[in-house]
Amino acid sequence: MAQKPKIKDLLNERACRHNTTRKSACNAPIPGATTGGCAFEGAQISLFPFADAAHLVHGPITCLGSSWETRASRTGWPGIDLTQVGLTTDLSTRDVIFGAEEKLAAALDTTIERYRPQAVFVYSTCVTALIGEDIDLACRHASAHHAIPCVPVHAPGFVGSKNLGSRLAGEAVLQHLIGTAEPEDISPFAINLIGEYNVTGDMWQYTPLLEEAGIRVLATLSGDGRIAAIRTAHRAGLNVLVCAKSLVSLTRKMQAQYGIPWISASFYGRRDTSESLLAIAAALDDAALLQRMKQIVSREEEILEAQLRPWRERFSGLKAVLNTGGNKAWSIAAALQDLGIEVVATAVGKSTESDREKARRYLGAQGVLMDKPGQQQAQIIEESGAQLLLAGGRSLYTAIKQGIAFIDVNQEKKKSYGGYRGLLNLAEDLKVALESPVFRNVGRRAPWQK
Ligand code: SF4
Repeated sequence: MAQKPKIKDLLNERACRHNTTRKSACNAPIPGATTGGCAFEGAQISLFPFADAAHLVHGPITCLGSSWETRASRTGWPGIDLTQVGLTTDLSTRDVIFGAEEKLAAALDTTIERYRPQAVFVYSTCVTALIGEDIDLACRHASAHHAIPCVPVHAPGFVGSKNLGSRLAGEAVLQHLIGTAEPEDISPFAINLIGEYNVTGDMWQYTPLLEEAGIRVLATLSGDGRIAAIRTAHRAGLNVLVCAKSLVSLTRKMQAQYGIPWISASFYGRRDTSESLLAIAAALDDAALLQRMKQIVSREEEILEAQLRPWRERFSGLKAVLNTGGNKAWSIAAALQDLGIEVVATAVGKSTESDREKARRYLGAQGVLMDKPGQQQAQIIEESGAQLLLAGGRSLYTAIKQGIAFIDVNQEKKKSYGGYRGLLNLAEDLKVALESPVFRNVGRRAPWQK
């Protein structure tokens, strides 16, 4: 029988570099951490892109409400698409007093009969975890009755941050889905993309190049994901961990359980896209495959180089401040540098130690690594004379106050900046932001204030 994931183990992930040198917990809960998104929210946004799965939140309706408007994760699923369907048991005070397991069982039946999903994820929340609702039992009964996987996701908000929730989602998938079905045919070059959420279609910028070289994406967690595919993920020859250190526990455990090696990859900017494509081909250990990939990479770089030249001239002399999370601290910086923009500062508050090292390498000795970007970015913009701020929506007001151009590079972004072609989208958006009079005008003082 599947075990509840142990939070302590997930906080001491062996594959994290900081745990090999000195012992320090990964994303241990700290007071106020959940204001940036709770563990439940992290788990839900990690699993939501499985378009053919239903997501049932066992808790008050406000939990679902607070995590709604999830990432703009695209799906090419022609049939059922449940990424836009929110389901909750909507607990009342009466349920808290008398228990809501019957309500959960009825909700599972209704969900499965109405939407015919390939699987149901059942999320615990603070309230249901505190009153001791047995979501494992409800899932076991529903799985047996309806003959589809019902997966309990034990990530109540109070256990920690969004990042920990993402780890817990990975645990749920590993315990209940991976290895529960066999693929129809096994490609010698099959890979899984782990932590790729296909936000704005990022994944589709590079998967055609993988396919052209002969590499098959067997399963994803979870961008454009299918439950049938993730169930067969144990047959892949390689796990590629894309921009999501939070799922490193999953890749390490899949290596231990199924012998699947893993590598990290990033597909932002020319340099990282090329390096990642070549690293995947190299890890699959086939000389002809590597040769094919080298040819594809050099062809794509040549095409891109010609397209980037006018943009570099346009952006020459510009400075940017970057305030985003995780490995985007360096990967988006690399993309900006490809466009000829100097990155004067990047935020590393949410980055791992290896991300910090890479950010330092990319920005050079002069670049500022911001631990508290909310407090630092305005001053750095003033001192450096940066003309651009790339950040999440909350930083828009800093850009407005400073009167400089702003681009949203977090999950609210509307276009893909991934792969080779994504760089051109980024260039186009930067041009629009730089030429927009809005930022200059709203930053100006009114005549009577002079
Ligand atoms: S799970 Fe807990 S922290 Fe998260 S939204 Fe619900 S009540 Fe809030």
